[in-house]
Amino acid sequence: MRIGIVGGGQLGRMLALAAHPLGIRSTVLDAGDECCASDVADHIHGTFDDVAALEQLASRSDVITFEFENVEVEELRSLTSTRIFPPLDALAVSQDRFSEKTLFQSLGIETPRFAAIDTIDELRNAAGEIGLPAVLKTRRMGYDGKGQFVLRESADIERAWNELGGTPLILEAFVPFDRELAIIAVRSREGTMATYPMTQTKHIGGILAESIAPPPHISKETTASAVQAVTAIAEKLDYVGALALELFDCDGRLLANEFAPRVHNSGHWTIDGAECSQFENHIRAVLDLPMGSTACIRPTAMLNLIGRTPALGALAHFPDLRIHLYRKAENPGRKVGHVTISADTHEALDAALTPIRRLIERYTQR
Ligand code: AMP
Repeated sequence: MRIGIVGGGQLGRMLALAAHPLGIRSTVLDAGDECCASDVADHIHGTFDDVAALEQLASRSDVITFEFENVEVEELRSLTSTRIFPPLDALAVSQDRFSEKTLFQSLGIETPRFAAIDTIDELRNAAGEIGLPAVLKTRRMGYDGKGQFVLRESADIERAWNELGGTPLILEAFVPFDRELAIIAVRSREGTMATYPMTQTKHIGGILAESIAPPPHISKETTASAVQAVTAIAEKLDYVGALALELFDCDGRLLANEFAPRVHNSGHWTIDGAECSQFENHIRAVLDLPMGSTACIRPTAMLNLIGRTPALGALAHFPDLRIHLYRKAENPGRKVGHVTISADTHEALDAALTPIRRLIERYTQR
């Protein structure tokens, strides 16, 4: 079997690494001369809107998938010879924060209050209605906290508009959450669904720094409401593959922030901490194979390596640490790798994490 992946970043690399032991050949489409997935996959050079390159990818693949949301939907739609999963309608909804939150609302999934903003007057009115603090975000193309401005007082309205105005925007109430959570579901081509245990995530400056699965102290009711929300989204979109839903936890009440129609950083722990990883299950789902177990083996933490790759020897000093380096060029704010560690209890995990956090913090460049 052959899988084609639009995008050759670390998610493409980890998808190809998961495909390899199953005997599935991966080809990635990426414009970079040397992308980090090209170590482990065939590489077609081309931009995501290069129809000839997409057709070449299609000719080498039984199914096409994508590892990045900000790809051109229309060009992908033109590829009629090869099936593409997840569905492009799901990709289109996820590309626009306003459509995404409108979908959540239509499914009865609670969100922060929000309004679409196209003019500074609309921003002034919405800030009055929603109240401050609030977060102004670009509707499209934002990731890792980019394209966002937190408005704390009315004087920020003009500043935020000067920074982001001119492109379609959304204003959201600022949520004073207790913590952030994510849930990853996988859905097969015939509609079978499974969810991984939830993940507690911690972002710094809009970038995921650390996650723990399952979250320490989570009620059955909170888990059930997350499962219900992600199931409703996947069913509504007739979804196939892995889907991540990011949530704010306000004392057990969940507000949906966004979903990603792909494998997701909040699920990287599943490579080492779950029976079958999100990457393998995504591949199984899109290629119409039965899915593997989503059960968590032991409490597992994942720490992102951001900006700079720590010395391998320093990481390897921790015998239980599982190391994933992406071989990406170093740049502040860039995810260049991740590590995971598992333990029998959350207490033991917390103790094991302290020196690892200290080491990673020394190298991190946000
Ligand atoms: P996003 O790009 O929407 O995932 O935002 C990145 C991060 O910014 C989130 O993971 C939160 O930590 C923070 N954030 C985004 N939207 C809000 C909000 N409405 N209220 C509070 N924090 C937010």
